[in-house]
Amino acid sequence: MSVRDPDDPSRFLISRNLAPGLVTPDDIQVIGLDGTTADDRPSYLERFIHGEIYRARADVQAVVHSHSASMVPFSISRTPLQAVWHMAGFLGEAVPVFEIRDSVGSSSDLLIRSGSLGADLAATLGGAAVALMRGHGFVAVGDSIPQAVARAVYADLNARAQVTAGQLGGYTALTAEEGAAAAESNNGQLTRAWEIWRANARRGESV
Ligand SMILES: [Zn+2]
Repeated sequence: MSVRDPDDPSRFLISRNLAPGLVTPDDIQVIGLDGTTADDRPSYLERFIHGEIYRARADVQAVVHSHSASMVPFSISRTPLQAVWHMAGFLGEAVPVFEIRDSVGSSSDLLIRSGSLGADLAATLGGAAVALMRGHGFVAVGDSIPQAVARAVYADLNARAQVTAGQLGGYTALTAEEGAAAAESNNGQLTRAWEIWRANARRGESV
């Protein structure tokens, strides 16, 4: 994940290329929206995801990118990921899916290796909170680190609930109005979840 630099909106902060569970404050790099950095340590290859979303969305202050296996089925099937649970009302009625073949054809490694690909992904995201990436993963954005993390966590849990309900024979999704109302209510409760997730992370536990 990354956060926009609070002192300079044309830069963002993200770990150097490292497994997330190993990141310490010394591992944070400052990177420009075009993916360049004065830091000579290796950076994440997919830093262009973050830079181009910050460039396209002035409202976004934090970005999460994940390869969650729970989300991938909705990136490769015809069933849209949609809000079926009030905790994920921000998903709306259909999460957009980025198709990398539309940008670079059918022989890529599916990774966002350039600013051009990052810009195409940001265009697919549009004004949404979450975008799926076909056969790859997803991005979640927010106006703060807690909101972006909460959206990533609850998008994943919503995906699992939607699959489970599908196995039971189907489900009732939230209407757009229900999703928007639930999202607004939950935004007022972000701190409660964030504080325990942060404490768990400091103890080396997952959320
Ligand atoms: Zn990725």
